[in-house]
Amino acid sequence: MTNATQKPVILWFRKDLRLADNHALQHACGLKRPVVPLYIREPDGHGTGPLGAAQCWWLHHSLTALRESLQTRGSDLLFLTGDPLATIRKLVDETGADTVLWNRRYDPAGISCDLRIEEELRKAGVDVSSYAGQLLHEPTRLLTGGGTPYRVYTPFWRALEKAEEPHEPVTPPHRISTPKSWPKSESLASWGLLPSRPDWAASFSEQWQPGEDAALRRLDDFIAETLKDYTQGRDFPAKPATSMLSPHLALGEISPARVWHATRGLSETIPRNNITHFRKELAWREFSYYLLFHFPHLPYANWNNRFDGFPWRFDSRLFSAWRRGQTGYPIVDAGMRQLWTHGWMHNRVRMITASFLIKDLLIDWRRGEAWFRDTLVDADPANNAASWQWVAGSGADASPFFRIFNPVLQGEKFDSDGRYVREFVPELANLEDKYIHRPFEAPQSALDKAGIVLGENYPNPIVDHAVARDRALSAYKAVADAA
Ligand code: FAD
Repeated sequence: MTNATQKPVILWFRKDLRLADNHALQHACGLKRPVVPLYIREPDGHGTGPLGAAQCWWLHHSLTALRESLQTRGSDLLFLTGDPLATIRKLVDETGADTVLWNRRYDPAGISCDLRIEEELRKAGVDVSSYAGQLLHEPTRLLTGGGTPYRVYTPFWRALEKAEEPHEPVTPPHRISTPKSWPKSESLASWGLLPSRPDWAASFSEQWQPGEDAALRRLDDFIAETLKDYTQGRDFPAKPATSMLSPHLALGEISPARVWHATRGLSETIPRNNITHFRKELAWREFSYYLLFHFPHLPYANWNNRFDGFPWRFDSRLFSAWRRGQTGYPIVDAGMRQLWTHGWMHNRVRMITASFLIKDLLIDWRRGEAWFRDTLVDADPANNAASWQWVAGSGADASPFFRIFNPVLQGEKFDSDGRYVREFVPELANLEDKYIHRPFEAPQSALDKAGIVLGENYPNPIVDHAVARDRALSAYKAVADAA
């Protein structure tokens, strides 16, 4: 039985915007004392800092959904802005709380912020406890026989497969006790997380529904309808063949353990290889966080310092053409426009567009990482940095630099009928299949028939891929020879 006059517990939500499988929430409720759920908008330089613009759109809706779920359990969610330590101290004074709980985060800025807060609050006599939940396993758990962190994915995956199963997800509480009076909250609307004038996120809501309930529905639908063909379908961007859970996972609306366990004990209608393949992708997420934890410079420095002398070039005209989806290579343009339209891009096309920026344009991967961070609804400090370094060849267990995607052949292989290109590059919609990935080779009659005037309503290629490829290989060779 809870007494509202007891000292409350502050429950600080961060990248765990859910009630199910939330260990900090479960422990808060287990204390049988009033709970004050809190979300802090952390300014730049504090904690994990502000999110990119597209993820801010998601955050607004996710926090709205979380607040509604808390309200249906008799509780509420406080919105406060400021340095998290100062904000929590003030709230401790205001409410008389003597305990603060949270689920751990694993990005370097988040870790150092949390350590500082924990130390300062403890000094002030406040109890602090933190819980796991953002990953399948704590990043200190899996180590090589020599006790060092894995640097290569395959042995990491083998160790993960052999390890004890991730924790069983815990169920959400039915009721959450409330304090005698609620401290004053800022209004979420006042945070201005949604774009206006122009509302560039208008088409996001056609594609997405943020929030925990939507995440659980997406998981159920994926398992019921799509998982059975995951291996065969996952590389084809026109097919809805992947889970699209990434934005839900990025803000913790669903836990990876929940996703992992949902793929257990499935009927024989889902061939085993699809389940393993899907789990291996979850393990890439795990590996990215593992790398970020053990090598905290991952988001900004080459993991392999041989790349420190790489002769990057910067040309703002080319960079802008890439960002706007105006490169003249249809699969690259479709990907970059999917990113702008839906705040998301298919994994195969992320690899193609990233390879194009790094290898065809020789633009530093960090510029691409920053653009994705700002425009993806699933922007994730670990997955984004690790993936960009993987494509660049500068990362742990990376794709070798000499593997340079040919955007025409990639398009023809993975979007052979051009369905994906036609959706996102409508000016090419009427071009015959055989030219859809190489409009610059189409005869004038085919262009005329499709209403295309190259250089006017669709660009000529901004680089010649064959020339760019040779240039990239010599740049890389110069770095490799100098090492
Ligand atoms: P599914 O195929 O259904 O996979 C399930 C989950 O596994 C995903 O939701 C994701 O959490 C994880 N996952 C899948 N593929 C990968 C991968 N290659 N690396 C790490 N985790 C993976 N993913 C992000 O979540 N955030 C990012 O900011 C991000 N940036 C990327 C940048 C580049 C250049 C590249 C090449 C990849 C990036 N990825 C990123 C990885 C991957 O593209 C997305 O996770 C995936 O497309 C999400 O779609 P899904 O949820 O349908 O994936």
